Amino acid sequence: MFVDTHAHLDFESFDDDRDAVIQRAIENKLSAIITIGTSLETSKHAIRFAENYASIYAAVGIHPSDCAEAGENDYLEIEKLAANEKVIAIGEIGLDYYRMYTDKETQKSAFKKQIAIARKVQLPLIVHTRESQEDCIKILNEEKAGDVSGVLHSFSGSMEILEKALATNFYISYTGGITFKNSTTDELVANTPVERMLLETDSPFITPVPFRGKRNEPSYVVHTAKKIAEIKGISVEKLAEITTENARHLFGLTI
Ligand SMILES: [Zn+2]
Repeated sequence: MFVDTHAHLDFESFDDDRDAVIQRAIENKLSAIITIGTSLETSKHAIRFAENYASIYAAVGIHPSDCAEAGENDYLEIEKLAANEKVIAIGEIGLDYYRMYTDKETQKSAFKKQIAIARKVQLPLIVHTRESQEDCIKILNEEKAGDVSGVLHSFSGSMEILEKALATNFYISYTGGITFKNSTTDELVANTPVERMLLETDSPFITPVPFRGKRNEPSYVVHTAKKIAEIKGISVEKLAEITTENARHLFGLTI
């Protein structure tokens, strides 16, 4: 059984067939899906889906690309939403210097505020970092995020960054991007212990081969898992078993 630890089931590309997508996931041996908020509004949607399906859990948080519009009240609301029993993490939060929709200082401040919330409510973090890994890891360390742990999702970067990331007590997850011909992440995957790894799709984005170019969905997590298992030289079943146990442990899933 697999866990897709990162999907955006509320996105409108699922509006026409969301139930079928979730059904396919169950048929393809997914025991749980974590659907992720990126703003106050989408965090509320995530909770709604989690309340409707036993195997769906929610993460609530304000994404670095959405934090320009967020006011103090949004953070207070996120903290309140975190009390819902289907909310298992604060995220996704972090820094995005690639899109840079908001200046670095605003992103850093939003990131720190939400690490503080996670520490207060004792939930792990789901962290997005793109072209910002140095600053991200520095803030995780300064704000003692390792106390609640979490995951660095859709991970990329250098071997040096991977070493620093592993030292933070966080888990690492890779998306379908690792199945691409031009993927540069094989070495990172090879050097990430399976005991510190999670599986994710980041649906509806970053669709793995053989569906590259189409909309991504949680059931495709198996294709990413196959590639990771191949790099690690273990069976897909073994990888599924260990990463599912990791997700259970980190997020306290009751599956
Ligand atoms: Zn995401």
